[in-house]
Amino acid sequence: MKLAQIVFSQGFGARRACEGLVAGGFVTIGGVVHDDPFEDLDPEGLVLNVEGKDWPYHAKALIALNKPAGYECSKKPKHHPSVYSLLPPPLLRRDAQSVGRLDEDTTGLLLFTDDGQLLHRWTSPKHHVPKVYDASCKHPVTPEQIERLLAGVVLQDDPEPVRALAAEPWAGAAEGLHGIRLTLAEGKYHQVKRMMAAVSNRVEALHRSRFGKLELPTDLKPGAWCWLPGPKAIAD
Ligand code: URA
Repeated sequence: MKLAQIVFSQGFGARRACEGLVAGGFVTIGGVVHDDPFEDLDPEGLVLNVEGKDWPYHAKALIALNKPAGYECSKKPKHHPSVYSLLPPPLLRRDAQSVGRLDEDTTGLLLFTDDGQLLHRWTSPKHHVPKVYDASCKHPVTPEQIERLLAGVVLQDDPEPVRALAAEPWAGAAEGLHGIRLTLAEGKYHQVKRMMAAVSNRVEALHRSRFGKLELPTDLKPGAWCWLPGPKAIAD
């Protein structure tokens, strides 16, 4: 693949602009300037450095963001900044999309990809990727609530009952709140909050700690993102 094409494929701008970046000496590989836009290279495993920043080549982008509270999962946010404002420009140019959405006040693991098939698979209601949520609730979480969440609860405006794949007390809630860890297969609107409301409790804070097989990396600070190894490490 030609070097300018590689740079273009990673989201560094229009084709002409990428040729200009290469010809201008702004692209290095392993500390060496490569200024021929038409140099043929195998992109797999390549770490480009574009204008001083390392960028490992990925044919398809797949990243994890530790979503902070106060960001909307929308490209046209209404009341808060967009989660997309936390991504670097090359990923935005590649039109990376969030895999599902988290509420503005929910924190934790949010994936983004520019792989349309993957996005479709992981957000399709037919494809049940388990997601783990840690909820801090206003009232104590009782065994009866857990039993009902596992058996299935009916949400307002939704005749089909939804049930948690797993539900257990969670010790991480803040002082004065009561924790529950829920594993859900679906991704319905406000699902955790509505399920907890259905058992007469109230979610005060919500955090997603796992998506499929992937735990939120412990070293990923709120607002930071990282590359992920590939879809197989996350879900089938
Ligand atoms: N359930 C909710 O209620 N909110 C989220 O952000 C995710 C799941």
